[in-house]
Amino acid sequence: MGKKDSGLTRRGFIAAAGSVAAVGSQMTGAYGDITRRAGKLAVLGGDPVRKNKHWPQWPFWDDKVVESVTKTTQSRVWCRIQSPSGTVPTFEKKYAEMTGAGYCVATGSGTQALHTCVEALGIGPGDEVITSPYTDPGTIAAILSARALPVMADLDRASYQLDPAEVERRINENTRAIMPVHMMGQPCDMDRIMAIARKHNLRVIEDACQAHLARHRGKVLGTIGDVGCFSFQSSKVIACGEGGAVIGNDEKLMDMCYTVHNHGTSRRGRTEVIGPKYRMNEFEAAVLLGQWDGIEERHAKRNENAAHLTAGLKDLPGIIPQKLYPGTECGSFYLYTMTYKKEHFNGADRATFIKAVAAEGVSLSPYIPRGLHREPWIENVLNTNVYKKMYTEARLRQYRDELACPNCDAVCDEMLMLWASGPLLGTKEDMDDVVDAIVKVYENRDQLSKA
Ligand SMILES: *Cc1c(COP(=O)(O)O)cnc(C)c1O
Repeated sequence: MGKKDSGLTRRGFIAAAGSVAAVGSQMTGAYGDITRRAGKLAVLGGDPVRKNKHWPQWPFWDDKVVESVTKTTQSRVWCRIQSPSGTVPTFEKKYAEMTGAGYCVATGSGTQALHTCVEALGIGPGDEVITSPYTDPGTIAAILSARALPVMADLDRASYQLDPAEVERRINENTRAIMPVHMMGQPCDMDRIMAIARKHNLRVIEDACQAHLARHRGKVLGTIGDVGCFSFQSSKVIACGEGGAVIGNDEKLMDMCYTVHNHGTSRRGRTEVIGPKYRMNEFEAAVLLGQWDGIEERHAKRNENAAHLTAGLKDLPGIIPQKLYPGTECGSFYLYTMTYKKEHFNGADRATFIKAVAAEGVSLSPYIPRGLHREPWIENVLNTNVYKKMYTEARLRQYRDELACPNCDAVCDEMLMLWASGPLLGTKEDMDDVVDAIVKVYENRDQLSKA
């Protein structure tokens, strides 16, 4: 990123932060100028809703981030075990405090955090973990790395989250844990998932890799299950390139997470169990600490802007924002997502709609193209010696027979998103542009057959 770009980013962010109060006081009502929505669609040569404007860029950085990295460089403390007051131990303390968790162990990625938890819970070959097919490949990789079996349950089509009834249906005598994935940074149906876990005596590993600081019934996501995992990969709402963390309240389990992630070597200096080496390095934590002061403000800003978008779109037929569950207090808004129903848009398919909205100056996109139940890992993994040895032929046959996830397929086909880490830090006018572009295309949907 050049000097010029970074200046733009900072100015954009300061301007955005200045309008928090204004956004908060106008959550509902009419948006923009009605005349902006009339007339010819830009895709057919009309005047676009939005032009010559920039979105706040992501990942965020400013002079404080640079200073923090410089300080780490100069300190020669580049590895977490060199000093108890280094950036990684400091980050762990601060992240536990921020989330209300008793303990935190930082890792090199969200996938590493998830795998650490699977190992620390003693889940391995022959065991099964129920999770979502609609997620980052890292979720499945964490289970496979322990040679356990990821069992994918279908979704609630309106929330894009695991359907608890589908989870319960897939529990058998080898099931050890549920790994709910808080997609888009919004809480899963945690009331029902936790009830199912208690009833069947299962552990819960929350994949909160998209869900930093999201809250459900007074608890920060990641602190509801036994352990919660986060990612700080570049695109996430708190970012350091690659990074991750486990949080939790069970001291013994969190101590085991430390041991596992530290090549099996405990805080007491003894090498005790099987473990990879997944330590976060001090430069990654320096980037995280350098952006600390703005984290909560950016979280609040994304929520205010998301509420503004949802209010603006709520009466529009054919665009249905992601369904949230009772108890949801706030989300991280890693992505702002909605379901597109083409029957309300003169039958225009999603790609045509996206093209028309893009011509108006707002870029929406599909997200995950197909669920993980449709990726080639399944046959490749099920045919390895270890899986053939550790799971019965009957179980693997049943596994193949029960792969269908029709709601996940529907979500992949009809969901639309606005990247939110950066764009949702924009101004109220930026949000109005999004609403106006969508509403304009809706109001002129008869033109879409020519687009
Ligand atoms: C990003 C992500 C992961 C993996 O995190 P990495 O840091 O990329 O390894 C896992 N699950 C979900 C839901 C994610 O979004």
